[in-house]
Amino acid sequence: MTRLPARSQKPRRIIEAAFFEKEIGPVSATELLAMTEDAWGILRDRLTDYAREKESGLLARCLMCEGRVFIQSRMHRGKRLPYFAHFKGGDPNCPWHRGMTMKPDDARAAQYQGRQESIAHRLLCEQLDLLARDDPRYLRSSVATYLPPTENSFGRYPDVYIEWEDFPAFAIEVQLSNTFQTEVSARSIHYQREGIPLIWVLYGIDPGGVDVPQSFRDVIRRHRGNAFVLDKEAINASRAEKTIVLKCFLRNVDGSFDGPVLTRIDQLTFPKRGLPYLEDRITSHLREQIDAVRRPWFKTLEPLREGWDWRALDMPEVLATLDHLRKEFPKLSHWETGKRDEDFTILRLVAVAFSILSTANGHERNYATRHPNVRALLNTLLHIPSGIQRYALLVELLLQHTALCGLLDGTVGQHIKRAKAQMEGNLSLSDDPEWAIMRHLVPEVFDPLVREELIYLQALPAWATPIT
Ligand SMILES: [Zn+2]
Repeated sequence: MTRLPARSQKPRRIIEAAFFEKEIGPVSATELLAMTEDAWGILRDRLTDYAREKESGLLARCLMCEGRVFIQSRMHRGKRLPYFAHFKGGDPNCPWHRGMTMKPDDARAAQYQGRQESIAHRLLCEQLDLLARDDPRYLRSSVATYLPPTENSFGRYPDVYIEWEDFPAFAIEVQLSNTFQTEVSARSIHYQREGIPLIWVLYGIDPGGVDVPQSFRDVIRRHRGNAFVLDKEAINASRAEKTIVLKCFLRNVDGSFDGPVLTRIDQLTFPKRGLPYLEDRITSHLREQIDAVRRPWFKTLEPLREGWDWRALDMPEVLATLDHLRKEFPKLSHWETGKRDEDFTILRLVAVAFSILSTANGHERNYATRHPNVRALLNTLLHIPSGIQRYALLVELLLQHTALCGLLDGTVGQHIKRAKAQMEGNLSLSDDPEWAIMRHLVPEVFDPLVREELIYLQALPAWATPIT
């Protein structure tokens, strides 16, 4: 059993695996631990959002008792580790149950009581309101006034609500100390539904500090890696520019923050889903990571565009790239016995996949054969017995999830169908190393978690979007 180290040294029971809806499926505690903080953080947001909005939320159940789960985190040796936890009211007899979790209602009550007592909070809201009034476009604003809903049965009291001419009406929430995740979720969803952009302004935190609390991290992630802070300098800049200027800290891959930039609210991007941002640091980080994995492969394949055979395996760059892959996947294929056969099979499979990927991306490439285009390449390799018939399912899934999905309606589709019938029990299935290698190299298609995250962030690249 996997155990998370507890401060008390006493091992605690944890949920070993959760089953996610949509195309994601089961995610183990170990897989969760291996994710980047953004990846598990977004899952955390969406599991919490689900209670209020099924559309953008996600549902995951404990694999043991089927109770709903969410993601909590704890610090361990300076690292923040995620783990699954049951929602309150889960089956207390679940073998993976680890006792009490916070009731959302109690949390909210505590939060509101905290708010009422906070003079600093009130002063900050009034400050923001004053700055908003200074803007020449000012129409109206309010501080902690009940805002009647347009689409919901319940309204909200936004900390500050602002209307400027020729600018979308927006709300600001001031976050002084720990706000609970459920509250962040509730407010984010509420304003999303109402079509009112929401900006969380943090106060009294130093994003460069050693440990930014989880609640602040949740807000920063929802702002796509942007931390907005109101301090003396921001207030002075606001007065000088006669509008609201915030200090924006942009988060890096390693969790550190770039030096602050003073940013006018009207400089921010207001996405259709999610909170406004100056720079989308989450999507850009994800893209960088994926590109870094693919780059050496594109470099290796480039000289092979003229056509290649077994002799390609004598090229040092080709061998180096395959050996690098072997570090992560010691056995590249169970279908081949010798290293050289394995290398040839995988090199050709990757060459085929990257030809599809590149062509779907508007750059027609054939890294696998001398044929003039991807259609001819696929028709041939899916037809000949020494080709890629064994990978008919893999190629089909790839095509289905790209802009080239139309190929499935033509001869390529027919060849895949025939290859599937011909190979039957000898088809490569999704638990083969080849599929794991594809999840690694083309996660936009083969890794359901990454694909789902990109769809959620409205950042799925055009090549990975089927044209219907
Ligand atoms: Zn359970």
